[in-house]
Amino acid sequence: MASARTARPRLDGERLRAFQTRLLRWFRKNGRDLPWRRTRDPYRILVSEVMLQQTQVERVQDYYARFLREYPTVRDLAAAHPARVRESWEGLGYYARARNLQAAARAIATRHGGEFPRRLEEVLALPGVGRYTAGAVVSFAYGEAAPILDTNVRRVLTRLFVRRRPAGAAKLDRRLWVLAEAVIPPGRVWEFNQGLMDFGATVCTARKPKCSTCPLRSLCAFYQRANDSRGTPA
Ligand code: SF4
Repeated sequence: MASARTARPRLDGERLRAFQTRLLRWFRKNGRDLPWRRTRDPYRILVSEVMLQQTQVERVQDYYARFLREYPTVRDLAAAHPARVRESWEGLGYYARARNLQAAARAIATRHGGEFPRRLEEVLALPGVGRYTAGAVVSFAYGEAAPILDTNVRRVLTRLFVRRRPAGAAKLDRRLWVLAEAVIPPGRVWEFNQGLMDFGATVCTARKPKCSTCPLRSLCAFYQRANDSRGTPA
């Protein structure tokens, strides 16, 4: 999935292994028990990812369970009346998500005979599914080593590995996607990607990262910079 025009980042092997090991250990102890983590069903994972796009985890949990009681399979959602789907989404807001989700279910019904596609490119071709969501579905459902880059993961990888920001957001974005793929430990994509998201959501947060107790601080470019200048990471 790495861009042909973006070189693979140079990662020191020892540092990379330390990062992977510590993050996986942290996730084993601290990972959140969330309903969509108890399934490998790609449809259920897609539903959770779409709901989480604009809504907090705590709020999504109830809606997720209720929505899946009403539409337990991708075929059920594809066959439902759009007005009914909108009603089921009531309260979550951003209704375009519900429309896109049903459009994706209908595309699965027509293009794939109701079987959820397995390949990243096929998932990415579904209506309303972007690179992050496609990566989350194939890595969480099938264990494919696909990178994910949501806001939390973007922040964690930037702080840890980016010493000098390239000019332009697009260039940084390309670098981060390549990095997000390069750091996945073989055979551990599920825990690793989930761990990265949880770590960004609870430790390496946007406003007050918990650097003083962070298990990754000795590897972190941001922490080192802040310490060198005797400042406090913001
Ligand atoms: S040391 Fe701070 S900035 Fe670096 S990864 Fe840990 S929490 Fe994030």
